[in-house]
Amino acid sequence: MPTGKDFGTGKGGTSGKKNANCSFCRKSYREVGPLVEGPDDVYVCGDCIELCQSILEQERKRRGEPKKLFNRVPTPREIVSHLDNYIIGQADTKRSLAVAVHNHYKRLMLVAEGDSDVEIEKSNILMIGPTGCGKTLMARTLAKFLQVPFAIGDATTLTEAGYVGEDVENLLLKLLHAADFDVEAAQRGIIFIDEIDKIGKTSNNVSITRDVSGEGVQQALLKMIEGTVSNVPPQGGRKHPEQHYIQVDTSNILFVVGGTFVGLEKIISKRLGRKMIGFGVCQQAQEEERRNLLKEVGVEDLIEFGMIPEFVGRLPVLTTLEKLREEDLVRILKEPKNALIRQYQKFFEMEGAQVEFTDCALHEIASIAIRKETGARGLRGVVEDAIFDLLFELPEVGRGRKFVITREIIRGEKPLMPGSAAA
Ligand code: ADP
Repeated sequence: MPTGKDFGTGKGGTSGKKNANCSFCRKSYREVGPLVEGPDDVYVCGDCIELCQSILEQERKRRGEPKKLFNRVPTPREIVSHLDNYIIGQADTKRSLAVAVHNHYKRLMLVAEGDSDVEIEKSNILMIGPTGCGKTLMARTLAKFLQVPFAIGDATTLTEAGYVGEDVENLLLKLLHAADFDVEAAQRGIIFIDEIDKIGKTSNNVSITRDVSGEGVQQALLKMIEGTVSNVPPQGGRKHPEQHYIQVDTSNILFVVGGTFVGLEKIISKRLGRKMIGFGVCQQAQEEERRNLLKEVGVEDLIEFGMIPEFVGRLPVLTTLEKLREEDLVRILKEPKNALIRQYQKFFEMEGAQVEFTDCALHEIASIAIRKETGARGLRGVVEDAIFDLLFELPEVGRGRKFVITREIIRGEKPLMPGSAAA
C-alpha cells in the first residue's frame, strides 16, 4: 500500500519543480501550487485529486447497496409529542401532519426494501393558515426530527421558465445545498413552499415581469410535486463532476405547501349556503366563524379560489391552522424549548445579569403583536423595540443585576434605562 511519500516504483511526495505540469489538467505548478509526483514524470495537482475523489465517491454510491433510510419511522404519536416541544396549539394540524409524514417515510422504506406489491401514494400536504401561525416552523421541526434535508421556497418568487424570477428547479438546488449535495439524501428530503395561494389563477399579479396567470407556475410545480427527474443546474454551487446538471428524482420528496388563502372562507360559506355574519358583530365571533368555515374546506373551494385541479389533487392532505390568540402568544413567549423569553434569559445570563418579564408584560407583548397582525412572527420585534436601550448597555452595566420588565416598559410609558429597571 503506497503511503503519502512512497508511490511504489515512483518517486512519491510533492514536487516543487517550477516547470512541472499536472498530467491531468495540464496546469503548471505556478498556477495550481504543489503537485504530487508519481513515476516517469507524472504529476497531479490538488484540484484534480479532489475531482477524482468526488468521482470515486459517486461511483461507490452508485454501486453500493442503497443506504438504509431509517431503522424505524417514528409513530404519529411520537411525532406529535416532539412537535409539542416547539409548537403551541394547532393540535389538528400536528396530528394530520404526523400521520402523513409517518406514512410517507413508511412508504419510502417499503420502496427501498423492494416491496412493489403495494402502491401507496405520496402524501403531500397543504397547510392553510394566517401568517406567523407556525406553518414553516412545523415543517422545519419535522425535518429536523426526522434528520432529512429541508428547504424553504416562496411561490411568489417562482416563475415559468423564461420569465424573470426563479425557476422551480431552484427549490431542488436549495434542497441539494441542505443535503450537502448528497443527491440520495436530497431525494428523500422535505420542501416547504410558502404563499402557494398567490399563484392562484385569479389572484392579482403585481408584477409584469412574471407570467400573468400563475397557472404556468402551478403546472411547473405540479410536475415536480407528482414526481419527475429534474435537471438542476448547480449554478456556482460546489464543483461537481456531472458537468452541467444534477439529476434529481422528486418522486420521494415530501412537499409541504402553505398559504393564507384570504377570502377562502367566503367561497366555503357560499358552497355551504351559509350566510356569513356581517359587520357590527364582535371581531371574536367573526374569527370563530372563519375558523369553523375553514375546517370545512374542500378541494372544490381551492379550485374556485384559483388553484388548478391537478395541483390540488397532488396535495391529498389538507389541514387548516388557527389564528393564534393572545393566550397562545403568551405561551409561545415562554413555553417552547427555544422560547423567546428563555433566549433572553440565557442572553442576560451570559452578561452576568438576570431578566424577568411580568405576566402583564407578556400579555402586553402578545396584544401588540396581534394588533400588528403578524402572528407569532412579530413577537421578537415587539420585545426588541421595548428593551433595545437595555440590550445596548447591558454588557457595561448588567453584571450582578436583575431587570424586571413590566407592562409599562413594554408600552414605552416608562423609559427603560438600566438604573430605572433594576430591582
Ligand atoms: P408561518 O405560518 O407564516 O409559516 P412561521 O412558522 O414562520 O409562520 O412562524 C414564525 C415564527 O413565529 C416561528 O419561527 C416561531 O418562532 C413563531 N411561531 C409561530 N407559530 C408558532 C406556534 N404555533 N408555536 C410556537 N411558535 C410559533
